[in-house]
Amino acid sequence: MVSQRLFFALWPSTRVRDELSALAQASAPGEGHRHNPDDLHMTLVFLGQVTASQFQCIEKVADNIQVDPFELTINHTGFWPRQKIFWAAPDHTPVQLERLAEHLNDGLRDCGFEPEQRAYKPHVTLYRKARHVSPTRLATSISWQAREFVLASSTHSGSSATRYQVLRRWALENDSNTG
Ligand code: ATP
Ligand code: MG
Repeated sequence: MVSQRLFFALWPSTRVRDELSALAQASAPGEGHRHNPDDLHMTLVFLGQVTASQFQCIEKVADNIQVDPFELTINHTGFWPRQKIFWAAPDHTPVQLERLAEHLNDGLRDCGFEPEQRAYKPHVTLYRKARHVSPTRLATSISWQAREFVLASSTHSGSSATRYQVLRRWALENDSNTG
């Protein structure tokens, strides 16, 4: 059986993707599945399965987002033992990133989604089903210029691996550009 889940995310540029991929490769947390480089992303809001009418509502919420572009500095890695996820993250969450996740969550309420109750913890999953790895600080941090956000889907079909696809992109625009 095939199922599709949607989520809002930041998708890295080719350069940032390559830097994250190199970081994942260098980290080698014992066993585990490394994300395909093209699948590396930072989830903003997870939606799950979506109906056709919800889809239109979701697009409208994204159309109305007004958040400036921002810079993310990915400077450490860590491990969540329960989820067995090895990830990379910024120490500092830019206020624009907080706003982006918050405004999406707020708007999605009107599309019939339960707002996320837990605090937003921005991270890029590098390995799944990882064994314990010590958190590290990056010798050279990864500078990620976030100029857009995307709506993406993950497709699950039986035993084959999850596949991700970017469905739509929205530019983050400076206030001054919009008059
Ligand atoms: P799989 O579930 O097949 O192991 P996956 O977790 O990558 O793969 P999804 O579950 O569809 O695929 O998740 C898509 C993205 O949303 C991933 O980045 C995932 O970490 C994130 N995500 C999934 N569930 C939640 C949730 N409840 N809250 C926040 N983020 C989530
Ligand atoms: Mg999942």
